[in-house]
Amino acid sequence: MDYCQKCGNKNDEDAKYCNKCGNYLNKPSSFEKNIEEAAEELGRKAEEFGKRIEKRAKELTQTDEEKAQSTPKHCSDCDVDLDYDAKFCLKCGKEIE
Ligand SMILES: [Zn+2]
Ligand SMILES: [Zn+2]
Repeated sequence: MDYCQKCGNKNDEDAKYCNKCGNYLNKPSSFEKNIEEAAEELGRKAEEFGKRIEKRAKELTQTDEEKAQSTPKHCSDCDVDLDYDAKFCLKCGKEIE
């Protein structure tokens, strides 16, 4: 049962207009509006999520590039090449700066 907001008349649930005063019973359009708003909200969230993923992906790519660009470390004592993230020489155990 829908009540007319203008005259308070009771109308059938599926009535679009008040049968007493002809006022448009807002129900279908407000329902559509809610769906639209919900869809918009969802779209915004999806966009934000996409941006976060994109940003994260860029960060990961940058880190990989930085790693690739880093020169390998070198132990001056025993003349051995080490990984860019090596903290100690794998041959003599010297701490690498
Ligand atoms: Zn009415
Ligand atoms: Zn060494």
